[in-house]
Amino acid sequence: MLFKNATIIDGTNQPGFPGHVLVENDRIVQVFRQEEALPKDLSDVWDCSGKILTPGFIDAHSHNDFYAAKPDHRLYFEPFVRQGVTTMVVGNCGFSAAGYAEQTRFNDEVGGGLFSNDGKNFGSFAGWAKKVDRHMPVNMVALIGHGTARIGANGKANTPLSAEAKVQMEETIERSLSEGAAGVSFGLMYEPGQFAPLEELESIAKIVKKHDKIITFHARACSKVSTSYHPPVGGRAHNLRAMDEVVAIAKKTGAKTQYSHLIFVGKRSWDTLEESLRILEETKASGVDIAFDMYPMEFGASVITVVLPVWYLGMEPKRRKTLINRLRLSLEVFIATKALGFGFGDILVTNTFGAFKELEGLRVTDIAKKWKMGLLKTYLELIDRTNGRINVMMYRYQNADIIERLRRHPQSLYMTDAWIEKESGVQNFAAIYAFPKFLCLALEHGTPLEEAVHKMTGATASRFGLPNRGTIAAGNFADIVLLDPARLGYTEGRDLPPTGIDLVMNNGKIVVREGIFDSAAAKNVGRILKV
Ligand SMILES: [Zn+2]
Repeated sequence: MLFKNATIIDGTNQPGFPGHVLVENDRIVQVFRQEEALPKDLSDVWDCSGKILTPGFIDAHSHNDFYAAKPDHRLYFEPFVRQGVTTMVVGNCGFSAAGYAEQTRFNDEVGGGLFSNDGKNFGSFAGWAKKVDRHMPVNMVALIGHGTARIGANGKANTPLSAEAKVQMEETIERSLSEGAAGVSFGLMYEPGQFAPLEELESIAKIVKKHDKIITFHARACSKVSTSYHPPVGGRAHNLRAMDEVVAIAKKTGAKTQYSHLIFVGKRSWDTLEESLRILEETKASGVDIAFDMYPMEFGASVITVVLPVWYLGMEPKRRKTLINRLRLSLEVFIATKALGFGFGDILVTNTFGAFKELEGLRVTDIAKKWKMGLLKTYLELIDRTNGRINVMMYRYQNADIIERLRRHPQSLYMTDAWIEKESGVQNFAAIYAFPKFLCLALEHGTPLEEAVHKMTGATASRFGLPNRGTIAAGNFADIVLLDPARLGYTEGRDLPPTGIDLVMNNGKIVVREGIFDSAAAKNVGRILKV
């Protein structure tokens, strides 16, 4: 198949050029400049006049490994594929679908309540990879979640690892890395990652360094004040302390480090933007290979318990309800939300997993009115009645100016951090149009499209060590997006597919044609990319 007369933006950050791309089976066999002679007798020619041809987009931060083995692929993956996504980096924030002891009795805790393997036990990376390879609509490169590995050995409770459990956890991680996992992710704000002592984190980072792979961090705090530190207010901004912790681990172990989803939760955190970037720049200048990823949204998906303090989460449910603990909690949560510039009105319930369907789409403030209860009481009531199993969308993570600053930063990569929730009335819009929005932002602000494309293709492929992906070059896999810059668009705040993503090809198969998703073609196209 020949893509003829396209403007080729090849993912390397070099200027686009007019030319043609020849694809055979699952590979790009040749890239021609406009003036070069083409082979004769080509039957399948696609006229790309006026269109831009790029590599397939690589989502640098995804959780869709938990959806790869679910039956309804179309539901979970169509929105991403229609954005132009052909590959996802999965297993982030300490959560991964695989990478834990097969004989574990804690199988149900894998996913931390945010995600689930539906009772399946995949064990190490290889078991999962075998199950999903060529049975999904996108390619996946997988990190092993430290949280998942720790749950396999010890559950998600706040109890120290025995020497035996630590050995088991590290062996599972090491085995998964040898089997082709791309690195390890940490979720220091989530159970059980938040309970792990520094020595445990460093020990794993050293294993990853030995394998020359990457560590990624969901940091302990993403806001200026938080309940992760004591006292919950005051002193150095908590998100900066959390970044210091990541930087210290990176410097001490020398492991290649990715700071996940750089965000600034709550309006009062926004003045830490410049110092955060300075720390990341200085760390890189000191010789540590560090970068970050970001999305173009002002909100993010999380779990309802994410703003609760560690001491409370680590407590037995019975003790949580004692008056003294409730009072302490009320005070800490009250102070923290004030100091954050963030309130219960910024928490929107997206999924209650069937418990309170009528509340999905409502903010905690709306629910309080409905239930005629105080805000904190409503919030705690929601947690108690569902055992904390509620997914939410949190607003005021950043604003348009911050997005602009991060989007153009030399150390940023692009991602969605999104997934589709079946039972939910509200989808995360990043799943619908994050990548087209990145391209639109470049066009609106008059910044190079080449740079934007690079940060969602070639830069990401090289960061995670993917061979033969992320650039338009002879010999590479034929992961291709054809877009129409005149029609490129998305609808802010609406669950409507983007426009102008005309064709998406993955491993040489067309999965979106004239904007329409081809479910039959997509079903088995995605491969596990072993690193
Ligand atoms: Zn995260």
